[in-house]
Amino acid sequence: MEKISVAAARKPEAIGKQVRLQGWVRTRRDSKGGFSFLELNDGSSLGNVQIVVDGTLPNYESDVKHLTAGSSVTIDGLVKASPAKGQPTEVQATQLTVHGGADAEGYPLQKKHHTFEFLRTIAHLRPRTNTFGAVTRVRNRVSQSIHQFFQEQGFYYIHTPIITASDCEGAGEMFKVTTLDLEKLPKRAEPGQSGTVDYTQDFFNRPAYLTVSGQLQGEIFACSMGKIYTFGPTFRAENSNTSRHLAEFWMVEPEMAFFELTDNMELAERFIKRILGDVLRDCAEDMQFFNDRIDDSHTILATLQGIVDKPFLRVSYTEAVEILEKSGHKFEYPVGWGRDLQAEHERYLTEQKFNCPVILYDYPRTIKPFYMRCNDDGRTVRAMDVLVPKVGEIIGGSQREERLDILEQRMQEQGLVPEHYWWYLDLRRYGTVPHSGFGLGLERILQFITGLGNIRDVIPFPRTPGSADF
Ligand code: ATP
Ligand code: MN
Repeated sequence: MEKISVAAARKPEAIGKQVRLQGWVRTRRDSKGGFSFLELNDGSSLGNVQIVVDGTLPNYESDVKHLTAGSSVTIDGLVKASPAKGQPTEVQATQLTVHGGADAEGYPLQKKHHTFEFLRTIAHLRPRTNTFGAVTRVRNRVSQSIHQFFQEQGFYYIHTPIITASDCEGAGEMFKVTTLDLEKLPKRAEPGQSGTVDYTQDFFNRPAYLTVSGQLQGEIFACSMGKIYTFGPTFRAENSNTSRHLAEFWMVEPEMAFFELTDNMELAERFIKRILGDVLRDCAEDMQFFNDRIDDSHTILATLQGIVDKPFLRVSYTEAVEILEKSGHKFEYPVGWGRDLQAEHERYLTEQKFNCPVILYDYPRTIKPFYMRCNDDGRTVRAMDVLVPKVGEIIGGSQREERLDILEQRMQEQGLVPEHYWWYLDLRRYGTVPHSGFGLGLERILQFITGLGNIRDVIPFPRTPGSADF
């Protein structure tokens, strides 16, 4: 008896095989002729396999007739060609074992349509729904593509730390990591210092945080191993309750020595196209589902294929601001050179103006972090953001400043203490090289691929302000 998946049992090649299937019952329908149909799913595909259970089975009356949605079963049977439309196979059961029933009254996943908000409150059961099963398979495929893409090109996968003491970048957005008892924080005794926390008594002898990015450590390895990438959880305590922000998300961060900004853009474009191409090819059934059932305009498949086939546009920040200013469109947030672009501006560019992915580059130095390379104009830095319709920014990156003196000057400009970054500056002191990198938010690209409007529906267990259940 071969144990096979539901996905395998649905393929015509399985016809004629004696198989064992294990999974959860989605529906049961009893026929007048004294037999029953079960729809079985085990997570291996969107579609179920139909099981025909004959009334002659010894436990037909005692077990089969009581099966409800959510019950778990093992079924032995013969795969046959199905006479029914829309499914090539069905399984004639010869034996059925029930592992666990599911009380029909209590089981939260009824056959009716559930809202995504409701499903978030039952995150322990939502992987059993069509939508979340499809999300899970696509998320898995994207993760595989990410590794394949970089591994095939000689990048090394680097595990950068999750706990970090470098009070870099968005210090205000960081989660603190401590073993101090917050209920009785040790206070410093010195006069004038009372009330401040004595971090010398904390685990790391200094303040520590959850990482907001593996970039700085990624640069260390790029500046010795050549091309590297990180792929891991990232934490941001930004209190923005939006449909595109999570407090815990997964980020992919490649970092490449001897890459200039244009090389970086070219890599980012190929990377996105590779992910989309793989998903369209290998998750066809799930993608059809997102196209037909999730996306109101039913254009996901056409949009993604169009993106794979066509080059991305490259537009400088300065040009983008001019386009927005001349657009005559009324924006909630003001547009002007030197101001950061908001999601509404990004969406105008990708949806209204260009209707394709856009790489914006050369942003004002005043709105970008210290590590981005200064252009000769003295006003802009070699930053790039990849914007896509509906989601806006999915990638942020830059060429890094490799000149020691300029980097130190930029740190001071932004009120940072260069000595705290001595190891980062050492990379510029000893054998400095031009290098570049970017960060792709896994959940952002999943939102784009699936058409799901809320980022909480593309991660198994979302963490957002006020919510960390499950
Ligand atoms: P945004 O302006 O959209 O909030 P950001 O500019 O702060 O993003 P970066 O620091 O450039 O983001 O991070 C790189 C990528 O990580 C972003 O392009 C995005 O895909 C993703 N990302 C950033 N913040 C979040 C978040 N809170 N939740 C999910 N993904 C995020
Ligand atoms: Mn960004």
